[in-house]
Amino acid sequence: MFLEPAFKAQRSGWIEIICGSMFSGKTEELLRRIKRTAYAGLKIEVFKPQTDDRYHETKVVSHDERAVKSTPVSDSRHILNVASDVDVVAIDEAQFFDENLTSVCQQLALKGIRVIVAGLDMDYSGKPFGPMPQLMAVAEYITKVHAICVHCGNLANHSYRKHGERSQVLLGSGDLYEPRCRKCFEMGNILDFKQKKQPKTPPSLPELF
Ligand SMILES: [Zn+2]
Repeated sequence: MFLEPAFKAQRSGWIEIICGSMFSGKTEELLRRIKRTAYAGLKIEVFKPQTDDRYHETKVVSHDERAVKSTPVSDSRHILNVASDVDVVAIDEAQFFDENLTSVCQQLALKGIRVIVAGLDMDYSGKPFGPMPQLMAVAEYITKVHAICVHCGNLANHSYRKHGERSQVLLGSGDLYEPRCRKCFEMGNILDFKQKKQPKTPPSLPELF
C-alpha cells in the first residue's frame, strides 16, 4: 500500500500516479488518499474532466458509489487558476485530459503542492492513453493497481471492449468493458465464443464476518 512521504517543514511538492485498467480500484485508491488528507486537515481540490459525466456531474464517484466533491474542467490549464492556496490537488480520469496536463501538474508540484493523479494507463486497444505516459515519466511515485481477469483469474491490466466500436473514448462500465489479463486480451473475441466463467458476485460484508 502506498504511504505518503512526510511533509517537511519547508514544503516541497510531488506528483503521484495511480494507474491501471478499468475495475482495478483506481478511483477507490484515489478516494482513500483524498480522505486521509482531509482527516489531516490539509486543503484539497479535486478535479475531473468535463467529458466524464457517467455518474455525477460534480463528484468523483467510484463504481462502489463512494463520492467526494470535484470540479469538472474542460481545459487542464484551468486547474492552475482554481488550485491556488491548496496543499493537495487530486485529478481523476486523467487519461481524458489534454496534453497540457503534464506541464500543469509539474507547475503545481513546483509550487509545493502534492499532486495525486488517477487514470487509465491504456485504452481499449492496449495503447498508452492520453497524457498518462508523460505523467508517469515525470512523477515521483507510481502505483499500478490491477483488476482480475474475468476469463482466467490472473491479474488483469487491460480494459477489453466487448463490442466492435473503434473510437478511443467510449464512456461506459461493465456493459461495455471487462478486465482481462495480457493473454486473454490478445485472444480478443475468440474467448467470447468459448464457455465464459461468470464473474462471481462478491459477498456482502456481513457474510465475511
Ligand atoms: Zn486471463
